[in-house]
Amino acid sequence: MMAQYLALKQEAEDCLLFYRMGDFFELFFDDAKTASSVLNIALTTRGEHHGEPVPMCGVPVHSAESYLARLIRAGCRVAIAEQVETPEEAKKRGGSKALVKRDIVRFVTAGTLTEEALLEPRRANMLAAIVELRGTCGIASCDISTGRMELEECAPERLHAQLARIGASELVAPDSWLAETDIVLNQAIPRANQDFSSDEGENRLKALHGVSTLDGFGQFSRPMLAAACGLITYLDHVGRGTLPFLLPPVLRASDNSMAMDEATRASLEIVQSQQGNRTGSLLAAIDRCVTGAGARQLVEDLSAPLVNAQAIEERLSAVDYFRQDAILRGDMREMLRSLPDIGRALGRIVAGRGSPRDLGQIRDGLTKGIAIRHRLNENDNHPTLLASLMPGLDKHDELIDLLSRALIASPPTERGQGGYIAEGYDASLDELRGISGNARRAIAALEGRYREETGISSLKIKHNGVLGYFIEVPSRHSEVLMAPDSDFTHRQTMANAVRFNSLHLHEEASRIAEAGGRAIAAEESHFEDLTLSVVAARQTIAETASALARIDVAVGQAERAADGDWSRPTISEDTVLDIKGGRHPVVEAALMANGERFVANDCQLQPADRLWLVGGPNMGGKSTFLRQNALIVLLAQAGCFVPAASATIGLVDRLFSRVGASDNLARGRSTFMVEMVETAAILAQASERSFVILDEVGRGTSTYDGLALAWAVVEAVHERNRSRCLFATHYHELARLADTCDSLSLHHVRAREWKGDLVLLHELAQGPADQSYGLAVARLAGVPKDVVSRAKMVLDKLEKGRAETGGLAAGLGELPLFAAATQAEEEQCDQLRTALLALDVDALSPREALDMLYELKREA
Ligand code: ADP
Repeated sequence: MMAQYLALKQEAEDCLLFYRMGDFFELFFDDAKTASSVLNIALTTRGEHHGEPVPMCGVPVHSAESYLARLIRAGCRVAIAEQVETPEEAKKRGGSKALVKRDIVRFVTAGTLTEEALLEPRRANMLAAIVELRGTCGIASCDISTGRMELEECAPERLHAQLARIGASELVAPDSWLAETDIVLNQAIPRANQDFSSDEGENRLKALHGVSTLDGFGQFSRPMLAAACGLITYLDHVGRGTLPFLLPPVLRASDNSMAMDEATRASLEIVQSQQGNRTGSLLAAIDRCVTGAGARQLVEDLSAPLVNAQAIEERLSAVDYFRQDAILRGDMREMLRSLPDIGRALGRIVAGRGSPRDLGQIRDGLTKGIAIRHRLNENDNHPTLLASLMPGLDKHDELIDLLSRALIASPPTERGQGGYIAEGYDASLDELRGISGNARRAIAALEGRYREETGISSLKIKHNGVLGYFIEVPSRHSEVLMAPDSDFTHRQTMANAVRFNSLHLHEEASRIAEAGGRAIAAEESHFEDLTLSVVAARQTIAETASALARIDVAVGQAERAADGDWSRPTISEDTVLDIKGGRHPVVEAALMANGERFVANDCQLQPADRLWLVGGPNMGGKSTFLRQNALIVLLAQAGCFVPAASATIGLVDRLFSRVGASDNLARGRSTFMVEMVETAAILAQASERSFVILDEVGRGTSTYDGLALAWAVVEAVHERNRSRCLFATHYHELARLADTCDSLSLHHVRAREWKGDLVLLHELAQGPADQSYGLAVARLAGVPKDVVSRAKMVLDKLEKGRAETGGLAAGLGELPLFAAATQAEEEQCDQLRTALLALDVDALSPREALDMLYELKREA
């Protein structure tokens, strides 16, 4: 057994091996240690290996799924080794001591789940493969629970941002590339290089979709095809040769969605909060979808907002349509609410793991689709997006008819017991069922007859798994049945009862068993046929599923908009941002839950006034203001209504959000280092079409460093990137930038001291912040009175010093302009370069060379 185990373990590679032993899956050695600690189950030992006891733990087969779920969540991958022959077969093959053959039947990994119980209904479950070919990264991603597959490419420095958008739960990449590249991909699983061949990728995709060219799907580049190959090969490996459901690949152009990097996504808390929860995220505040598929679509929309005005308008018009008609909206929500998850049911069926219940879900979902189409048809003037989705809703009359005739109303998840094929679908099956039904009735009649014949009113005919059918009488009456000439044969004596068999009973029982077995076989073969019919229609079923998901998103957003009085944004091609009465959806919801009111604020950026410096006290609402504007942009471009009285959004190509270090998590690097790395990325990438929010950048270091960096960053964004930008800061000194930067203006969140207390108004106003309210905030926070008054003394001294010397900002007045400063530096470099190029090194004596070096150093 140990030899068999070790061979399988080698095949399982770094996956935990679930080794089937009767009613248990057992784990050995290090696997046992890992699993027992993750699952919190007992670690014991079994036998010895090389003289050492073998660590072991096990989980019962019938509850294996919940254990699997916990292991997967903890980041493990599992290989399932099943017994692939019965002990009898093993004996026949190799004698009485032969070991039952076992094989790995499948791998369970985070990115390749299809089980309903292991999947989160409202989240797509993505698997991604990446590769780099000649300086370009190819990414293939898919959600095998629904079959969606996308191919894209990007520059290596943009890889992290793309992966952040995809949010894969599992990632594979070529092993040698992983070893060489400086791109840090902690969780990537290394796979053999030859799994990532672009030629092979193209061939596999063609074969998979039965086409001779992929041109009909899009023009895929070599890196994309190589990534596709890696993805498909991995799926093949995990499924042991059975590929899951994959739709034709969709080409994702890198410029058809708004770019956001990982740090921006995290700081805006788009689909999860900084703590990693759904609660507190933008998604949680706006998700009104009533189906899992709709919720998954919404996550995708928010993760990749559009940059094409027409596509955005189409989504907005669909939302508007449902917003204006509350009755239609109510009806749609009611109908969608009971819609089964057809996309995922289809995924299981195509992967060969479908159940009768999945078939029933397909039937019910497609039927609902038709009803929804009818309801939509009652109205007219359908907006473009809706009109394009509607034909996809009722393409399945024949399939629905077939499934409705074939299946009972609510088919079970298990098919071993049969009973899911409807009466009237197959006459011979009905007949078989008739036979066992008659036999059951005959047995009931037999019980009555035996009672009469024996005069034992407590005689019963019972059934159990070991004996089958038997007759049971209390011990004190057993004499009668024991009589040598009776019809009954003794089978078992219990404490209080004795059990018998009889010829008649045996005959009827055999009829039940035989007919039952044949009926189950007949149902099984119907199941296979129905599965084939569904598989054949998989493309159009997937289309229906995605149309319904899209409708759910539109209806849900309409509900959200109607509920909170949100408005339809106007999309513009100019570089403006004009938001009136904007609110932060998450903060507002939190305040409302406490019965408090959110103060709405305006934001008006345009080419002549595109950078706002926002000052004011801590807790005054600066961060909230910055983020609400970024979220409104994001919502608008995702095709959602926005929490504002009105909003005109000039299309944003890239959105950046950064939060100064002390609010951030360290993640291994020093917080200030993280802050600077992230800031560097903005300065390198932000364009005139971008929108940037910078919250207290520079705060993570000493006051002088921080102010100097904040100053230089604001100047660079203003002069070079020329993006629309909101910059929150508590450095008053930055206000001086308004003198030199034309398109920069000063704003602050208002506060008042009232009877010695600080009142934060959360209201944005023009002009620089007049005062620092640090001490008042400290008092508000409960810092002891004597400490605050001591601080007041220190402050007075400092301020006196500042008045005399010019303080922190002394000398800033003479600073040359940013552009002039960088120009002077460039000119100096040019001079040095010219001098160096003019040198004839061969003609120099060592002495002259040394002098020259001194000279150059002085000039530098
Ligand atoms: P700052 O960045 O200036 O320190 P925050 O934006 O973090 O301040 O806001 C602090 C708190 O003030 C928030 O958690 C929220 O409760 C409240 N707040 C912020 N903005 C508003 C607003 N516009 N209306 C009402 N309350 C607000």
